[in-house]
Amino acid sequence: MTRRALRIVLARPRGFCAGVVRAVDIVERTLERFGAPVHVRHEIVHNRHVVDDFRRKGARFVEELDEVPDSAITVFSAHGVAPSVETDAVRRNLHVIDATCPLVRKIHNDARRFARQGYDVVLIGHSGHPEVIGTMGQVDGPVHLVSTVEEVAALRPASSDRLAYVTQTTLSVDDTRDIIAALQDRFPGIAGPEIDGICYATQNRQTAVRALATDVDLILVIGARNSSNSNRLREIGNEAGVETHLVSDAGMVDPAWLNGKQAVGITAGASAPEFLVQEMIDHLGTSYDIAVTEMDGPDESVYFKLPRELQTPDEADRDG
Ligand code: SF4
Repeated sequence: MTRRALRIVLARPRGFCAGVVRAVDIVERTLERFGAPVHVRHEIVHNRHVVDDFRRKGARFVEELDEVPDSAITVFSAHGVAPSVETDAVRRNLHVIDATCPLVRKIHNDARRFARQGYDVVLIGHSGHPEVIGTMGQVDGPVHLVSTVEEVAALRPASSDRLAYVTQTTLSVDDTRDIIAALQDRFPGIAGPEIDGICYATQNRQTAVRALATDVDLILVIGARNSSNSNRLREIGNEAGVETHLVSDAGMVDPAWLNGKQAVGITAGASAPEFLVQEMIDHLGTSYDIAVTEMDGPDESVYFKLPRELQTPDEADRDG
């Protein structure tokens, strides 16, 4: 029986960002250098496949530091932590290797600087996300979390003259623009960071999904349910009028989604490894006569150096 033709278009860029590459390298090298077990606070990145692989190699994932034995090697995840966690680690004499993404660290620095200057800080982000918990903990002063335009109307800062905003790194560019506009409308003097807090990887992947949506009639976003940037990609595809599903891997694809579809776009969140994309292509290839292309898109050359104690001598020379 001849199989039906199906065009597959791969988003570009997609998948791992520089912060995730760095976090994954940190756990790998920490395991190599110090041996198992290595304790990791929170999922190193929001992806079950990555986490399970490290678990097999001897990483132990914990939610809180009281689950880590005194003096143990401990990695902080890419999402960052509050200073209280860092203080606790010092008190417990833990050997900490910090995988906080430098772009999350920049948001921490902006938020702390505003608080030092006497501003109430408005954090645009999603309640409960580990990055948001970490950033809120960094602010020594009033901090107000908003995630929608409606919540801006309900804000009650101590003074509308000393107000500044920062953002979570993985938000929807469009939604955040609306929230910032609502903040500026209500508080015309509000200060903000010099450079937009939504990171380059989030912006590039969202732009790619928007372009993908003009060329396909179904989009599959490979990513974890608790991955903020993956959820935003799903929303953007649907908002563009293309049926879009977030799946953790090929096994989650409902065959009915393919009914009547001619072209499928595939992208992956910043914490989804490329092998899952390949597995998805192979999976679709078992039922369809597939033709795979990759859309045009920018090359990403962002690189974050590793902590000094994990660098090879060559890397230490190069990074100075
Ligand atoms: Fe860093 Fe952006 Fe990746 Fe988050 S999504 S780890 S902020 S590069």
